[in-house]
Amino acid sequence: MSEGCQTAAGGRASSAPLLGGDEEPTLFELSRPGRRAWQLPTTDVPEVPLADLVPADHRRDEPPPLAEVSERDLVAHFTRLSHRQYSVDLGAYPLGSCTMKYNPKMCDTVAGLDGLATVHPAAPARYTQGWLQLLVELEQALCAVTGMAAATLQPAAGAAGELTGLLLMRAWHEQQGRQRRSVIIPDSAHGTNPASVTLGGYRVLTVPSDQRGCVDLRALRQVVDDDVAGIMLTNPNTLGLFERDIAAIADAVHEAGGLLYYDGANLNAIMGVVRPGDMGFDIVHLNLHKTFATPHGGGGPGAGPVAVTSALAPLLPGPRPVLDAESASYSWEQPARSIGPVHSWHGNALVLARALAYALVHGADGLRQVAQLAVLNANWLRVQLGQLFDVAHEEPCMHECVLSAATLRREHGIRAVDVAKGLLDEGFHAPTVAFPLVVEDALMFEPTETESVQTLYALAEACRRVVARAGVEPGAGDLHHAPRRTPVRRVDEAQAARRLIATFDARPGADA
Ligand SMILES: *Cc1c(COP(=O)(O)O)cnc(C)c1O
Repeated sequence: MSEGCQTAAGGRASSAPLLGGDEEPTLFELSRPGRRAWQLPTTDVPEVPLADLVPADHRRDEPPPLAEVSERDLVAHFTRLSHRQYSVDLGAYPLGSCTMKYNPKMCDTVAGLDGLATVHPAAPARYTQGWLQLLVELEQALCAVTGMAAATLQPAAGAAGELTGLLLMRAWHEQQGRQRRSVIIPDSAHGTNPASVTLGGYRVLTVPSDQRGCVDLRALRQVVDDDVAGIMLTNPNTLGLFERDIAAIADAVHEAGGLLYYDGANLNAIMGVVRPGDMGFDIVHLNLHKTFATPHGGGGPGAGPVAVTSALAPLLPGPRPVLDAESASYSWEQPARSIGPVHSWHGNALVLARALAYALVHGADGLRQVAQLAVLNANWLRVQLGQLFDVAHEEPCMHECVLSAATLRREHGIRAVDVAKGLLDEGFHAPTVAFPLVVEDALMFEPTETESVQTLYALAEACRRVVARAGVEPGAGDLHHAPRRTPVRRVDEAQAARRLIATFDARPGADA
């Protein structure tokens, strides 16, 4: 598409070059009345007047001001944006705690199958036996991996799973006739944990980490009492370390009548090797969009199933898919004392379809191998990067390794964020920076099992070049201005957080 053509067609003469460079106009700026990229198929059911469907006070007089663009402009717009993006399909994405692994395309093929993708969630169970079977089999697979008795597939993501788990915890205590007010969380916890505890109506009790980066067992024993509803743990924790005292932790909490919640967002480190149920956990959430092959980031759909022990199963959200063994048919069932639904319909179903495809193709041995390779890769990287940065904890890690830019900062004024930005210039995605908070100037790398040793080597070499850039005077200042080779240079993160503009006003002149 040449600029001339676009102008002749009445569109705004885009000042954006085809790749990189200046700003890409929004779809609203590209919009011209009457242009269409898609048309609704002709209806094959009787039309219902809008007035019968939408209450008067919910209707608007004017249609919403949506962008009107041709298919050609739409495709070009998103293709241009995609060329300015970094993604898991492009290269290594070692963003710690996020498990940005490559997602096999086979799973997308399954999720796109007509018999799965086009089924209406309200279709009666007798027409959707295949879907119900899929959901029941996924629940069984997840219970096998976690060592739990039953699971809900409804929650939309990890944080939604956490809230579901806390509501289950609350319902369970209430059923025992107990009022408890607080939930324990280690100081290394993922940020969603304290947020979920608060949203679940509990007070957060923080326990410190010990020298080894694990829960301080003595400090834990001091805070556990009969006001504690439970503890939320992720194991391996956010430092990538396995909580070796987990059995003692479980005993301490259970003896006080509390429950153990397992934040299983990072199951990639342990699946097929050790089960949260065997460690003493009562409630487990999994991030299918991290571990089980759904691409994530950028707000796409996820799934955060919650698995529980048999004691908690009657409280699970409903309706649940079940198999009636006698008639060999599937149906929906409300658990006896359900906390109620936590998602409309049955959750993000196509994410669930991808997860079952991934689990079946790998099998138990394959899933175990995924975890083993994820841990091997993280340790390979830990040893390589330990030559460049401070190592947070001198011991083998699990699926991710935490380093620190503390020495670089002292000697050259280079912070973890500068290293991360420098890596963008090298063609890699950045690691997680400044988290976990308990490590000074943290750099958290999670290479995942899907990267080859060649890619890991290239990543380590890229880090070496970035650190060399920091060490050269007066070039050190140069790293403060990285990245230089990306479409968007260094952004002002403080401004971005303080002056958040999350809406776009499409009225002419409104955005000026
Ligand atoms: C990613 C993550 C979460 C949150 O999951 P979302 O799907 O983003 O809500 C929670 N805990 C840990 C340890 C995580 O890594």
